[in-house]
Amino acid sequence: MIENSWREQLKHSRKSLKDLNDFTLTETESAFFKYEGAEDKLPFMVNSYYSSLAENTPDDPIRRQFLPTIDEYTVTDCELSDPLGEKHYSPVPRLIHRYRDRVLLLTTDSCAMYCRHCFRRSFTGHDDGVVSSDELSAVCSYLEEHREVNEILLSGGDPLTCSDRKIEEILTSLRAVRPDIAIRLATRIPVVLPMRITENLIRIISDNGPVWLVTQFNHRKEISVLTEKIIASLVDNGIPVLNQSVLLKGVNDSVPALEELFQKLVRMRVKPYYLFQGDLASGTSHFRVPIERGQEIMSQLRQRISGLALPVYAVDLPGGGGKIPLTENYAIRQDEKNYYFRNIEGQEYIYPREI
Ligand SMILES: *Cc1c(COP(=O)(O)O)cnc(C)c1O
Repeated sequence: MIENSWREQLKHSRKSLKDLNDFTLTETESAFFKYEGAEDKLPFMVNSYYSSLAENTPDDPIRRQFLPTIDEYTVTDCELSDPLGEKHYSPVPRLIHRYRDRVLLLTTDSCAMYCRHCFRRSFTGHDDGVVSSDELSAVCSYLEEHREVNEILLSGGDPLTCSDRKIEEILTSLRAVRPDIAIRLATRIPVVLPMRITENLIRIISDNGPVWLVTQFNHRKEISVLTEKIIASLVDNGIPVLNQSVLLKGVNDSVPALEELFQKLVRMRVKPYYLFQGDLASGTSHFRVPIERGQEIMSQLRQRISGLALPVYAVDLPGGGGKIPLTENYAIRQDEKNYYFRNIEGQEYIYPREI
């Protein structure tokens, strides 16, 4: 494979209505393009690898993630442009320090395609570009002073859309000041542009370990033969891979869809880590599933698949509240002597207080 083929793929991405001639668009899809660029909207962009995974039907789970609809112009009362209140937690440009022992770095605003459910859509795909060497130095100084930080998440945008040279600069700079921390690389590249993960990139990542790669598969159909090969080489080279799915209406909001996805991931040695409730990002209400329905899906999954295959269903609370698990409630009541629980099958069991 030519090392640059992923760059060619990106360069020839579909970016406007005229690039969609081979798709039969619905009215809600084509209506989006009437207002294209009218507002500060998340741009439309998809590369040919990812769009080729979709079938030409409106309810295809892959198509729904890359083809915008007019629904993105519906902004509900509860929605926010910065749904997680991240700007309140930024001590240094591009750095978010929300939890005591870990920080998140916005490496770049670019992605290999723009997910229509993106919650960081006010940053993604606009004009912040790639983290500069000066910005990186400021981040490194912060990490030198803040010894309580044990982990840095590289996010964005998608960090793996940067050049190998930039990725190496980021990783080696961080390692130079903090050889002790874990690095978590948050990227959809294995899903949306697997050919970008070249031998050289794997070398750069594994040379600067420990690096944990966290990706986002939302549907079984996103796993191609090439993807499986790439994931296998990451894991074989000592890079653990985790998955964070987003619960998305019309994409994966069913027990069979998630069961099939999570079981497949375990067979690929990928641990399903989180299943996220949709954040309150502007123009994404058509993707959100009620929390009750999410918990219902989770309790059915708990009866069907192993703990290894089951992620934690969680929500990032609006306005900067942070992440909390949305665990279904198995505790029924308690009295002076006992706790009363229902088990997975719904029967009642007692656990004593005096132990
Ligand atoms: C999600 C997130 C983290 C990581 O949280 P985990 O629960 O450890 O996965 C860290 N910082 C920010 C700002 C986050 O949004």
